[in-house]
Amino acid sequence: MGDREFTASSFYQFLGERKLMGSQCQSCGTLHVPPRAICPDCYGADMEWVEMSGEGELVAFTTIHIAPTAMLEAGYDRKNPYCTGIVQLAEGPAVSAQILGVDPTKPQEIEIGTPLRVAFIQRGEGEQARTYLAFERS
Ligand SMILES: [Zn+2]
Repeated sequence: MGDREFTASSFYQFLGERKLMGSQCQSCGTLHVPPRAICPDCYGADMEWVEMSGEGELVAFTTIHIAPTAMLEAGYDRKNPYCTGIVQLAEGPAVSAQILGVDPTKPQEIEIGTPLRVAFIQRGEGEQARTYLAFERS
């Protein structure tokens, strides 16, 4: 795994293998999820892949009623909204992802601080198949 470039495409490749991976700066120790090739904190370029535990908690969310094309194809629309959120990982970094297991029609019932666990969503078929990052209640 050390040979993969620190790019979004490697990140998605790992998701396909059901791994949530980040890059850790070997100069200052900062973790980046999704990975970065250059550290924005110290401009170091010496990175190593680190697998995240997949545990985290909800720090912000929004419910989406007007879905982008990829989500329309996945069956979401005005009548079937979905929730995306910012999840703070146990290791520190925050990532944005779809939040499963909550009711997007009742945002008042979605609680900041809800413990979450990583989930991997498969969408599309054949060549179009891709794995997306999501979190569900743990
Ligand atoms: Zn750094």
